[in-house]
Amino acid sequence: AASPLGSSVIPVVNRLQDIFAQLGSQSTIELPQVAVVGSQSSGKSSVLEALVGRDFLPRGNEICTRRPLVLQLVQTKRKGDGSEEEWGEFLHRPDKRFYDFSEIRSEIEAVTAREAGENKGVSDKQIRLKIFSPNVLDITLVDLPGITKVPVGDQPTDIESRIRTMIMSYIKKPSCLILAVTAANADLANSDALQIAGVADPDGYRTIGIITKLDIMDRGTDARNLLLGKVIPLRLGYVGVVNRSQEDINLNRSIKDALAAEEKFFRSHPVYSTVADRCGVPQLARKLNNILVQHIKAILPGLKSRISDALVSVAKEHASYGEITESKAGQGALLLNIISKYSEAFASMLEGRNEELSTS
Ligand code: GDP
Ligand code: MG
Repeated sequence: AASPLGSSVIPVVNRLQDIFAQLGSQSTIELPQVAVVGSQSSGKSSVLEALVGRDFLPRGNEICTRRPLVLQLVQTKRKGDGSEEEWGEFLHRPDKRFYDFSEIRSEIEAVTAREAGENKGVSDKQIRLKIFSPNVLDITLVDLPGITKVPVGDQPTDIESRIRTMIMSYIKKPSCLILAVTAANADLANSDALQIAGVADPDGYRTIGIITKLDIMDRGTDARNLLLGKVIPLRLGYVGVVNRSQEDINLNRSIKDALAAEEKFFRSHPVYSTVADRCGVPQLARKLNNILVQHIKAILPGLKSRISDALVSVAKEHASYGEITESKAGQGALLLNIISKYSEAFASMLEGRNEELSTS
């Protein structure tokens, strides 16, 4: 099944890639990176996993993410027989394809320990992982260590400022989308996520607020006002989610079950059912997809002129052929094909004719 992230964007990007492929050039549709920030154990890794739709990240109630993980999703062609092959590859182990996703997690844990030690140490040296699948969008996600205040284990006394510097080096890039994760049982006004996101993106054009752990708030409290942006407003708004608890992790509960449980939680909740458009991983994915579509729309004029230039040069070349031979006729057909694909794809995107892509 398609990962929640990108499901509605994949067809457009694919169409554009096809056009570039026909023109014999590599596409330059560079999508923004998405990075998660927040306090330790706020649920950052859990949110990323839910977006990808696979279990492969170390998660837990103490420090698990101790090196930045740069996760590049790479879309592969579906095989002729329709079967779906998905695998992971690490930059440090180019020889091995990991088909078993739990092995990917063990490998992340092993190389974390190799670089950052066994005792809670943190390193800014990246782990680079590619996941190949027909069901993903070509996008890069970054899982980052959480902000901690009190050094534990082998952590240096200045652990907090070291982690902050590391996080900033990723999220200061204007092309980075920031998922600012805060647990609902913490005070939003004390949110490390919103604080650091506010430094990197003061105008809030690229920060989405995520409130996790809605299932374990104090009795008698709820996050309705947080989700509505009435506590700390955010231009792109908030989404509330329910990830797997530590018990769920210990019991090896699947991501599919977790998503089903989340849906049930929100649907049957007296408060959250009234703000359903701000609740759940699928809503978060939709929000992100809309932002990606806006991004593609913004870079369309540039892509369009690149395609036009390429068309002009193909046309010139074509016109320079004297006699039309078999192969030259083939070129003409190719040209026609390119022109029609090109106009279809752009017209429907620009006019927002495609329902899924309209970003009201
Ligand atoms: P990270 O340190 O921010 O990456 O957080 P993790 O994703 O590793 O999660 C930290 C702990 O919080 C784990 O034990 C998770 O099971 C738990 N957790 C994360 N999100 C939720 C949630 O929405 N509800 C509950 N009950 N537990 C959660
Ligand atoms: Mg983590």
